[in-house]
This record gives sequence, C-alpha cells and structure tokens, in this order.
Amino acid sequence: MPFRVTGGNAAPVPPAGKGVLVAFTAGAVIAAGESVVTRIGPELPAPALAAALAPVATIGLEIPAGVGGDQPLPLAAGPDARSAIDVGNLVKAVEIGEELARRQSLLDAALADGAPQAALFGDRAFVQPVVGRVTSQAGPRWGRQHEGLDVANRIGTPIFAVAGGVVVESGPASGFGLWVVVEHADGSRSVYGHINRTFVEVGQEVSAGERIDEVGNRGFSTGPHLHLEIVDTSGEKLDPTDWLRDRGIEY
Ligand SMILES: [Zn+2]
Repeated sequence: MPFRVTGGNAAPVPPAGKGVLVAFTAGAVIAAGESVVTRIGPELPAPALAAALAPVATIGLEIPAGVGGDQPLPLAAGPDARSAIDVGNLVKAVEIGEELARRQSLLDAALADGAPQAALFGDRAFVQPVVGRVTSQAGPRWGRQHEGLDVANRIGTPIFAVAGGVVVESGPASGFGLWVVVEHADGSRSVYGHINRTFVEVGQEVSAGERIDEVGNRGFSTGPHLHLEIVDTSGEKLDPTDWLRDRGIEY
C-alpha cells in the first residue's frame, strides 16, 4: 500500500503530481533493466541503462540517507499538496536503481580484464572465455566424441575464467599439453586446454572474467585454439556452447 505524504491541506493528490512521475519512472526502469542487465558486452551495447538510471538517481537525491523499507519520508514535501510524493513508489524506484547499479557493477567487474562478453545468470556473472573463431563444437569428430568447444585464435590471445571459482589444476596435462581447471561454486568445472601459458596457481580464487591463461598450441592440437570443457558435479561433460548460451553467452 503506497504511503502518500501530503501537506496539511487535505486536497486530493493531483494526478500529474510527482507520485505519478515516480511510478512511471520505476516502471520504465524495470522494463529497461530486464533487457539491459542480462546481456552486456562490446558486441551487445547497453543502450538504455544510463538513461534509465538517470531519472532514478535524480529522484534518489531527494531521499535522506537511511530511508528504506516501509518508512515514510519525513515531511520534506512541504505543505503544498502538489508536491506530494508517493513514497512507496519512490523507495521502490531507488531500490530498483540500486539493484541495477549493483548488477551493472558485477558485469563491469566481469568485463574489466577484457573479456569480450558478460552476462548475469541469477546473481552470478558469466563471460565468453576467449575471442576467436569456433572451429569445432562438442559432438562426434574423427570417429570419436569431441567433448569440448574449440575456439581458434593466435597464440597469446587472453583467456578469461567463464565464471568465478577456485583453480584446481594449472600445469602440464597429457593430451592438453598445458591446462587450467576452475571449480565453480556449484561444483561444476571449466577446463581450458592446449593453453600456452597459465597465470594462475592451484588454490587461487578467480573471479568471472579474470584473465587466467592464454591460447596455445600445446598437446594434441593442430593449431592455436582454446579447447573448453564444462564438467558437471557427476563428472559428465556438458556441451559448452549450450551451457554458455543458457547463461547468456553466445558463440
Ligand atoms: Zn577440442
């Protein structure tokens, strides 16, 4: 139930008052936020976020620090009924603005090392691990199962952790030549094979989008590329392309 602050004057709130403006703004932010915060990266510019946040930030300046929950504003609106504020919507608008800013900061952090694309899935950031050309998907290849996604690029191209986690392997590996494996919060693992160099150590915590290694041509590899695998908690290897797409990242 929105709480209206009105002056001593008992006149009804005019329909064109600030309360109407704020409610409209909050609605606009929700609509913009749904399309903006789930898909952001250099290839997918976020056109509306700054514009959507601006009016909320402006409105937020009128709210004293510490106002939240269901508490009404102090009578800052003054005695003039025309400046009545729909506090419920105002607080909600600020909360939405704060939530958008928080989610944007998660995405900014995920993109900070140069990852090409980031998205939020639930409350966690995911990134595209490397720029390049997909040369092989998971599936049958050469009479056996290829259990990863191959993305080709030149040696030294940075590779970014697809999500935050802890490094559980970093070093030589048969077949992969050199690899890094990151275990994520849900127990799944991302595997980065044929890398040229690793920049992380076993036990190290990495964040989504952190640069962890670089494209190489080590092991059983016919050209510089990243071989990415996603392994679930039961050890089953998932299709990395599907797994990434489900989390907002396209290849
Ligand atoms: Zn491969």
